[in-house]
Amino acid sequence: MKQKSIIYARVSSNMQAKEGHGLDSQETMCRKYAESNDYNVLKVFKDSGVSGGVIDRPAMKKLLEFLEERDEEIIVIFDDIKRFARDVMGHFSLKSEIYSRGGRIESPTHKFEDSPEGRFVETILASVGELERNQNRRQVIRRQKARLLNGYWAFKNPRGLKFVKKPGHGKVLIPDEPVASIFKEAIIKYRDGYLNTFKEVREFINKKYKLYDIDERISIKGTVGVLKNLLYAGYLEHKAWDVDLRKGKHEGIVTYDTYLQVQKKLESGSFDTFRKDIKEDFPLRGHLLCPYCDNLMTACWSKGCSKYYANYYCYQKGCECRYKVCNQDKVHEKFEKYLEKVKPKKNMLILLEKVIFDVWSDRKEQESRSKINSKMLIKRIDDKIETYMERIGKLNNSPLIKQYEQKVSALLEEKEKITEETGNLKYTEEELRTALGQVLDILKSPCRHWVDGTLEDKKIFMKFFFDGNIYYDLKSGFRTKRYSPIVRILKDIDDSTLSMEKKVQGERFELP
Ligand SMILES: [Zn+2]
Repeated sequence: MKQKSIIYARVSSNMQAKEGHGLDSQETMCRKYAESNDYNVLKVFKDSGVSGGVIDRPAMKKLLEFLEERDEEIIVIFDDIKRFARDVMGHFSLKSEIYSRGGRIESPTHKFEDSPEGRFVETILASVGELERNQNRRQVIRRQKARLLNGYWAFKNPRGLKFVKKPGHGKVLIPDEPVASIFKEAIIKYRDGYLNTFKEVREFINKKYKLYDIDERISIKGTVGVLKNLLYAGYLEHKAWDVDLRKGKHEGIVTYDTYLQVQKKLESGSFDTFRKDIKEDFPLRGHLLCPYCDNLMTACWSKGCSKYYANYYCYQKGCECRYKVCNQDKVHEKFEKYLEKVKPKKNMLILLEKVIFDVWSDRKEQESRSKINSKMLIKRIDDKIETYMERIGKLNNSPLIKQYEQKVSALLEEKEKITEETGNLKYTEEELRTALGQVLDILKSPCRHWVDGTLEDKKIFMKFFFDGNIYYDLKSGFRTKRYSPIVRILKDIDDSTLSMEKKVQGERFELP
């Protein structure tokens, strides 16, 4: 009996479909693969335009249900590991979902094995996909930054302003009434001393809300935002991205002069927390976990008797470490040392490179096999066409002629499609080399990447290396159980190097 299989195809956007990675061509690739392995294809599952969680995709859900219902081994074919799951964790969790239901994964472009090497390769390919995704995100950030530099607000609109499309400008902020007028009055009353505390400003706004039948209440934080937001003065800045203060292309609700007077009044108040560019000063904020309560630490500048101090600290109620501060310089210095300590060994990286290129030759072989396959298919089509042509030649004015002609033209179309697809390989060797080069570069010198990187690079780095977060203990320093899968797998393999070494040396590979 033939091995049973199902096909999964996915496109995340119309763009992909247009670029020729459409659902149909994915399906064709997978069907060809099934045919060459003599699998029976039971069903095809397709997701399009779905991002978000892997397991939330509707067709993927149905696929899992399908596997659940059948008590037999079914092979799930998808055309590229990158479509399967775009991040490493998602990749592994989905894989275990499929395996736990008796499924098995196969792909025309990639061979899966349950050996350590197979797992290793799978992780690397998934990591490369994830890195690419993060870099795409950075592209988006660059575009947003360009908008900001040109004076257009590129984030969510604050209350009281709304976006409208303006020809030649894109989306531009304009006052959103009646809230804009309420805020304007509040800001001016604060400037002129009719309202003097946050509480008074807040009550004023909430009273007005009621008057206008606006069903919401502003918080103290929201109130501070009203008084401090530059956008209301028709200006903008975004220091985290080096976008200095500049006049916006939008209309404000108060003058810049009023804004400055309000800021002066705010500063002369009792607020002595020194909030300069906090994000740049604390790149580890949002990544440090308190080992005593498992919560993220925060960071800030605070004023001592004579100078300002920069600290990370836990602020969780009830935590024994609450408000115990860690000096920012020391934390950063220790982190750099820690990176030096935990970076993957050089021989592991050489191994990684070696394995990747093994995978490459595998892939190439598979691709050439699929080319041979297509050649065979084309030959078969040509034979059929010839047969039909012969028959047409023998017929005289028969209605059958028309039918044969139709068949011939359908075969020609099929032939064209196969030729087109064979010439179209999706991942060039150069592309993989570039992506792998980046991965290796980070793994080789994580510390340099950390120190030299921008704030955005640092975020990507933390995710790439530590899966986002890391514990910091005042006494014992950094520790983590949460390396990203790629680093973890390098370490796992390092632990079992002995057996690997034998194997690799058997293939004429020398460890340094
Ligand atoms: Zn804590």
